[in-house]
Amino acid sequence: MPELPEVETVRAGLEKHVVGKKIIGVKQLHPRALRSDSLNKLTVFKNAKIKAVKRRGKFMWLEFDRPEVLVAHLGMSGQFKIQKAGSDNEAHLRAKFELSNGKEMRFVDQRTFGWLCVDQLEEGVPSVVSHIATDLFDPTFDKKSIVKKINLKRGQIKKVILDQEVVSGIGNIYADEALWYARIHPESIASDLSSTQILNLLTAAQKVMTRALAAGGTSFDELYINVNGESGYFERSLAVYGREGEPCRRQRTCGGEIIRIAFTNRSSRLCPACQTR
Ligand SMILES: [Zn+2]
Repeated sequence: MPELPEVETVRAGLEKHVVGKKIIGVKQLHPRALRSDSLNKLTVFKNAKIKAVKRRGKFMWLEFDRPEVLVAHLGMSGQFKIQKAGSDNEAHLRAKFELSNGKEMRFVDQRTFGWLCVDQLEEGVPSVVSHIATDLFDPTFDKKSIVKKINLKRGQIKKVILDQEVVSGIGNIYADEALWYARIHPESIASDLSSTQILNLLTAAQKVMTRALAAGGTSFDELYINVNGESGYFERSLAVYGREGEPCRRQRTCGGEIIRIAFTNRSSRLCPACQTR
């Protein structure tokens, strides 16, 4: 599943390729590509000029020279591609937007959990995004107040940092990585942690996602913006994700081995020796 660094890579790629271009044709190729609460059909963007590509958490949106915005969520497998107009359709092409420069912006999504939606801005963010908290890359992200907010929660810390209404954009992989760096067990109760521990956790999440972003930022070329399901290009430097059974990267000091435990309908990876409750 694309996580925040991958979504930011896609946003930056789109920004580079589509801002300043006009949409001259729109085609929706799958009914589920458009959210049922969309304010309008995608064709509302015909002749609209793209002004900006923005993001909060894993939600992206395009702003135009008109009030409507185009919101996009990549879901499990969504991709944006920039192709030459008239190129063959991809097998899972869901919508395409012909641009004034002879190219097309395409939304491809194999598993159809991703979506597009026509929306309007409410205080600078689309209304479908208004309940989403700021993310760790947001210049307005207020670390101190988020630490306080997390410290009041009685739930397990991993669940709390995955809650998009507390802090957005931390997914399963980066939550596990950040918890390992901060030496916190994913099942620790948030209100039992010290504010320093929570601050260290948010800083770790910021660091690990910034590194992933730096790795992903070089992965697309001129004509092709692509986001793979999992951040393959970054995998080699992960500390716990995909490393169960292997020695903890702090093994010289902790002697532990990475294990996998159940977490809701997914898993958590951790080192039981250095991540204690
Ligand atoms: Zn360890």
